[in-house]
Amino acid sequence: MKKRILSIFGCLLITVLVFAGCGSASAFDEAVKSGSNYEITATLDYENKTLSASETVSYKNNSPNDLNELKFHLYPNAFRSDASVFRAVSETQSSRAYPNGFSEGNITVSSVSVQNSEVNFEIAGDDKNILVVPLPSILRSGGSVEVDINFEIVIPNCNHRFGYGENTLNLGNWYPIVCVFEDGEFVTDGYSPNGDPFYSDVSNYVVTLNYPANLTLASTGEVISTETSNNITTVTMTARAVRDFAMVLSEKFEVVTEQVGETTISYFYYDDPNFEAHLQTAVDALNTFNTLFGAYPYTTLNVAKANFLQGGMEYPNLVYISDDVDIDSEYNNVIIHEIAHQWWYGVVGNNECESAWIDEGLADYSTALFYDENPSYNRTSDQVFGSALSSYLLFCDVYREVYDDFDTSMNRNIHKFNTETEYVYLTYVKGVLMFDSISEMIGQDKMIKVLQDFYSENAFQNSKPADLVESFENVTHKKLASYIMSWLDGSVVFEELRG
Ligand SMILES: [Zn+2]
Repeated sequence: MKKRILSIFGCLLITVLVFAGCGSASAFDEAVKSGSNYEITATLDYENKTLSASETVSYKNNSPNDLNELKFHLYPNAFRSDASVFRAVSETQSSRAYPNGFSEGNITVSSVSVQNSEVNFEIAGDDKNILVVPLPSILRSGGSVEVDINFEIVIPNCNHRFGYGENTLNLGNWYPIVCVFEDGEFVTDGYSPNGDPFYSDVSNYVVTLNYPANLTLASTGEVISTETSNNITTVTMTARAVRDFAMVLSEKFEVVTEQVGETTISYFYYDDPNFEAHLQTAVDALNTFNTLFGAYPYTTLNVAKANFLQGGMEYPNLVYISDDVDIDSEYNNVIIHEIAHQWWYGVVGNNECESAWIDEGLADYSTALFYDENPSYNRTSDQVFGSALSSYLLFCDVYREVYDDFDTSMNRNIHKFNTETEYVYLTYVKGVLMFDSISEMIGQDKMIKVLQDFYSENAFQNSKPADLVESFENVTHKKLASYIMSWLDGSVVFEELRG
C-alpha cells in the first residue's frame, strides 16, 4: 500500500518466457508445482452488491508437520458492523471510507467438504476472522487434500480494498485463503486499519466470474476465455505462482495497453486526461525494476484507478491507484510504488503483519531509485531521502512530546503500533532511511546487487528479516546484522543523521 503522508498531525497518513534475474525459469516452475491450487467460480449480483461462490482448494502440505485441520482467513468479516479487534476501518478513517455512512460487509460460509464429504467447520477467531476446517484424516507432510467451500459475500459501500464506491467495485481479499503454516502453527493475524495485514503462500488460481456485461474487469492473472450472453459476461482467468487473486470492476473503465517484453501492461482508468502519461509511468516502472532487480515473471500487469482511501494497493499482477490522489506527481509516485511491490510482496513475500518494513521500506526505496534512472520525472533519490529524513525527525520530536516511552522499533507486529501515523513513519519512512543509510555505507552498486540477490534467492518464497540480512552479508562480505538490528530495534543513534 502507498500511504500519503499529509501531515504528522492529521491522518498522517501463465507462461514464463524470460527469467533473467529471478533465479531461473525453474524457480517459477517449481513454485507452480509445489503451490496449492484454487479454483473459484463466482457470480456477482451487482445490483445488490453480493457475490456467491464455490471454491475448491487443493492444498499441498509443504510443511514438515502432519496436519489435522486447515485454517483460512475470512478477511471480509473485518467489515462487519460488530467487528472490534480486527476491523478494517478506524474511527479516523471512517468518513473517507464510508462517504455515505457505515455499510456492512461480510462473508458467510454455507458449507465445507473435504475430499467430497461434508464436514462440520468452525468460524473462529476474534471477529469471526478464521475458518477452521477439520480434516477427517491426518494430512501428512508432502500430502495434499481437496477442500470445497461455498460462500457468499456482502460487499460494503466502502472506498477500500474490499468494497465499492462511486466508480469501482473492488474485490481484494474477498475469498477464504489458507493461512500460512510455519513453525508448527497457522499464522492467523487479523485485519488492521493501519496497513496491509496480509500473509499468504504462492499458489495457482483458476477463477471464473459471472458479472453484468456493462462492467469492465481488471484482475490478477490473465483472461483465458470470455463469453457474453443475456447481458452476463463470463470470464475465466488463470494465474500461476501468485500469492493472492484480486479484481476491480467498473462501468466507467477505459483501457490502454502496452507491451514490455513478454508482459502486457494495461491501464484501466476513468476521468483521466493524462491516461497516456500514466500508462507510460507504469511502463517505465516495469522496465526500470526489470533491469535493477531481475525480470518480472508474469505476462500481465494491470494498473487500475479505483475508489480507495489510501493512495494505492498492491495485489499480484494488479494494483489499485486511488482516484483521490489529485496531484499528478503523487499519482505517478503511487503507480511506481505499487509496481515496486510486484518485486517486494509479490514475488518475494514477507509477513506483512510482522515485518512490513521489508516490503514497504523496499517499495519506497525502489521508488527513490526509479527517479535516478528516469530523470524526466524531475525528482532525485537524494530529494526523496532528504524529505524522508526531515519528516521522520519532526515526527520523532512530536511523538516524544506525546509519549513518554516513545518506541521507535520497526520490527513489531502491525497490531502493536499505537496509531497509523506511528506505523507509517516506522515502516515506510524509517525503512527507506535504513536502506539509504546502508547504501551510503556499502555503495549503491552493491546495494542493487544485494536486492538482486534477495530477489533471486527468495523468489516465490516467504522471506524473513534474516534472509535480507543474509543477502547483505553475502554480497558485501561485511557483518551488517547488528547495524541493521539497531535500526529495527530502535537503538540506532539518529542524532548522527541530523545535520
Ligand atoms: Zn506499499
